[in-house]
Amino acid sequence: LQRLTPRAIWPYLDGGLAHYLLLILVVALLLAGLLGLLYRQEASELANLPATPESLAALAQALRSSYARVYVALLLAFGIVAWWLVLTHRSRTVAQQESNRQTGLLLQEIESHRHTDLQLQQARQVAEAARAQADQANQAKTRYISNISHELRTPLNSILGYAQLLQQDGELGPERAHAIRVILRGGEHLLSLIEGTLDIARIESGKLALQQGPVDLRALLQEVTQMFELQAAAKGLRFGFDGPEFWPQAVRADEKRLRQILINLLGNAVKFTARGQVRLVLRHVRQMATFEIIDTGPGIAAAELQRIFEPFARASSAASSVTPGSGLGLTIARMLAELMGGELGASSEPGVGTTFRLRLFLPELNTAPEPSTRLQADALAAVVGYEGPRRHVLVVDNEEADRQLQRRWLEPLGFAVSQATHGEDALQQLEAGLRPDVICMDLAMPGMDGWETLRRIQTLGLLPVPALAVVSANAFDRGLDNDIDLPPEDFLVKPVRRQELLHWLQLRLGLRWRYRATAPTPASGRMSDTAPASDGPQQALPPEAVEALLDLARLGYYRGFVKRAEALQDSHPECAPWLAQLQAMAREFRFESIVAALEPRGQAGEITCTTPR
Ligand code: ADP
Repeated sequence: LQRLTPRAIWPYLDGGLAHYLLLILVVALLLAGLLGLLYRQEASELANLPATPESLAALAQALRSSYARVYVALLLAFGIVAWWLVLTHRSRTVAQQESNRQTGLLLQEIESHRHTDLQLQQARQVAEAARAQADQANQAKTRYISNISHELRTPLNSILGYAQLLQQDGELGPERAHAIRVILRGGEHLLSLIEGTLDIARIESGKLALQQGPVDLRALLQEVTQMFELQAAAKGLRFGFDGPEFWPQAVRADEKRLRQILINLLGNAVKFTARGQVRLVLRHVRQMATFEIIDTGPGIAAAELQRIFEPFARASSAASSVTPGSGLGLTIARMLAELMGGELGASSEPGVGTTFRLRLFLPELNTAPEPSTRLQADALAAVVGYEGPRRHVLVVDNEEADRQLQRRWLEPLGFAVSQATHGEDALQQLEAGLRPDVICMDLAMPGMDGWETLRRIQTLGLLPVPALAVVSANAFDRGLDNDIDLPPEDFLVKPVRRQELLHWLQLRLGLRWRYRATAPTPASGRMSDTAPASDGPQQALPPEAVEALLDLARLGYYRGFVKRAEALQDSHPECAPWLAQLQAMAREFRFESIVAALEPRGQAGEITCTTPR
């Protein structure tokens, strides 16, 4: 019809009614044609009938009207069927259109998903590349720090070791003694900065392994609170401790790291608080310990609360600007807390105070905790020799200074010390029949390094020796896998301390030490390495006074120590000159020597006021 009709009426042709009319028109014509044909055939047969013209005309009339009625009846029936057909067709078309529309939308959605997926994939690739780059940068940083530590520790080892040796020389003039103390202080400060940075790098690279074991929480808290009670009192602050109602017999924790966090937080609280109080509250409920360190200090602005946990970040309060510090303490504390599976946070109100909250999972154990080894370390300072046969030590190190240092520490104690300047030298000596009880092997040596030398010694069948230590300036070497299965305890990190070396020798060789005659044995008390001369006046200070002075000296709290010593000068004038000497030592920050001078005490814990060296 579109071909036959003008364009103007095309839109009407698409409607249901037009379809219907068209259909009915076609049906009407076809039906008319068909019935017409049948009628003509019947009419011609009718004409041949033997009848009169009138009756034929009447029959023809009846036939026409019958055909006409049949035509109308059929047209009506077709009309209904056609209407039904049109409607069915129409609804199918509408359904089809709707289905097409939905399919179109679906295709659109699939396309947009594909697009988003593509974008996501691209973004993921970019993020992964960035992460790989950041990882690489982080590893490079860790390597860099590790190398720097190596570079710094090696010379620092010599500086500190020789300064320690020189300090023991009794004939030093005051100026030189002062110079050496300055060197030692500077070296120790440098070392603490390296240690702090290394701690962070070690934690970040996942190389710091926790030493979990049974810990007497109560004893640990007592030790820490006693420390800070004094420090707080010396600043005129009140110190409070609120512990749990039921103390666990022991908890599983890394004692050293837990103490480190608590000392850091309490140290900060006392350091930054000028008046009021510092409180430590501990709750231990269902294996979960919550430590709160609450102070009435200057507080920290809300904007800075998160920042102070970042390395080298310090709050902008007036207290922080005048208080010395590295800004690493809280960073390490939070990292350690997280390493232990806990969390460390802070809340604060400027002008009112700050609360640091440490939450740790400390499961209760039924095993008895081991006694602290700290007292033993103090005692080692006064070692002058050991019981039993002479032990032979082979020191393998390309650094002349490091070899000499160990020799000068060990020979006076009765050890025989052989030295090898490199791996081959060590091998030659061993092949020539040298059979040491102890080998201290430096790792970083030119040519054959420490590990290679050890492998060759092993091949010669000369391992194990009773004690084998690997000495390295690189703290990261500790805990690395190694061919000869050396445990981490046998790694000594440069600069090696005398006490550390002696402690290790004691462990590995089962040595029984002999101590300086003036000092009591470890069973009866603590040791010193600079006992006071016994030729001064023999007046005595009571045990409580000595204990108070010792605590302040151990804390290194200069002002507190001097004040307490002044008060004692008033109450014990007979000890005034002796106390004045101690104050002079405190002014030079020689707290180790003060502790050493204060420790050898009489039966009742008193001390004679003889002049300290
Ligand atoms: P440091 O104490 O060596 O500066 P920290 O990492 O321990 O380094 O502390 C970071 C900073 O957080 C401090 O410099 C100080 O500004 C702020 N801060 C920490 N503890 C307190 C506190 N108890 N009260 C107020 N400010 C604090």
